[in-house]
Amino acid sequence: MNDQNEVNRRKFIVTTTAAAGAASALGAVVSAPASAQSLLEPPPGFNTQPPLVENWNRQLGDLVDVSSGIRRDAPELGHPAVKDRHKIYCYLLMKLIVRFWNGNKRGPLGIYPLRQGQIERPERPERRQRYRGDMIANADGLRVNWDRYLGHNIACIAVDGNGDIIDFDFNHNDFFRSSAEHAESRMVRRLFSLTDVFDGWKTGKKLSDKPHLASLNDVTLYTSLESCAQCSGVMSLAGVRQIVYLQNDFTAYKIGNLMYNLANRTAGVDSRGNAILDWQGKPVPSLPGAPIPIAGSEIQLDEFKNLNEANLAFSKNVIAAKAANDKDPTIVSGAFFVPDNGKPDFAPSITSFLCTDAALRIFQGGAAKLDAMTLDPLSRDWKFPNRPDNKDILTNQECLDKARAFFVYADTEGYRGSPHKL
Ligand SMILES: [Zn+2]
Repeated sequence: MNDQNEVNRRKFIVTTTAAAGAASALGAVVSAPASAQSLLEPPPGFNTQPPLVENWNRQLGDLVDVSSGIRRDAPELGHPAVKDRHKIYCYLLMKLIVRFWNGNKRGPLGIYPLRQGQIERPERPERRQRYRGDMIANADGLRVNWDRYLGHNIACIAVDGNGDIIDFDFNHNDFFRSSAEHAESRMVRRLFSLTDVFDGWKTGKKLSDKPHLASLNDVTLYTSLESCAQCSGVMSLAGVRQIVYLQNDFTAYKIGNLMYNLANRTAGVDSRGNAILDWQGKPVPSLPGAPIPIAGSEIQLDEFKNLNEANLAFSKNVIAAKAANDKDPTIVSGAFFVPDNGKPDFAPSITSFLCTDAALRIFQGGAAKLDAMTLDPLSRDWKFPNRPDNKDILTNQECLDKARAFFVYADTEGYRGSPHKL
């Protein structure tokens, strides 16, 4: 047990003693010493795991707080150019989601009251109403829209430490008839399958003297939705450096934050035993044992707040609509989906929200920023993590140019429902 724990233990005893004294003064029953003792430290075995020992007596609210951890493990986030850099990839992610958007969670037919902007051929109201799946911008006879729902509108992209985009992936739950085919875990499995593959999607040129993916500890994943327990676990096992997410999943019980705070830290060396350097070229003493969870709000991404608020509004409205429908079954206007036959869908699910016009508009707004973004001179030439000895690290301007080029590639050759061509 280190000094810090001794201090914590003393602090705890002082606190509990004071509380017991207060309770006693009020004539209340004082806790048995054995029960106070059991709070002091984890059971044998667990008491040798430093994060468990340090956090054993903390309140849950403190335990999910990652603000001080982020300052320690990602101090570069305080720099405006670093925020710009993360935003480039967030905007690319939103543009990919818009490109492959498919809101037909309950099929292309029927009525989706909250998807009126996604009706195919609204100019021909005499035809039966049908909703667009694949949101390809310029559909023609050779490139048709595909309305089959393959999975939720949740995606992620992986970016290496140099700033090169490795690949993107989507949720494929419906395609595989599985509730576990999430974007991030699919992405990590794919990163492993690409280990030692040198030819990137761009040119096939080797990018540096190390295998492209020899280690994932400099890889950042950008995901549109806060990760679940499965994906947090997979990313943690893979050693992914950090995860930037565009929206909270309120049902994911902050598992990514918990894992980040409770996982044992590892030595600050890469797979070859060389010291890992921070953004200022100094050795990093230790690495987190789970990805650093970075909410979009940390980089002042407007869409983070907008998506959260719109999701909460959707949930509230659809629950109210269900209550109205219970009283009068003919009222279905606030449902997520009204089938030709059968019961309307009033579930306040986030994956239903991620089919609505409200969600799509927010992603479209973010997507447009990838095209409109300009970088001021200080940001333009910024290299992150800015290690002076690594010539392969891209400047922010190069990242922006490559992100735009990646979209063109994905639009032309990428597939949402099958492995991507690299
Ligand atoms: Zn997941």
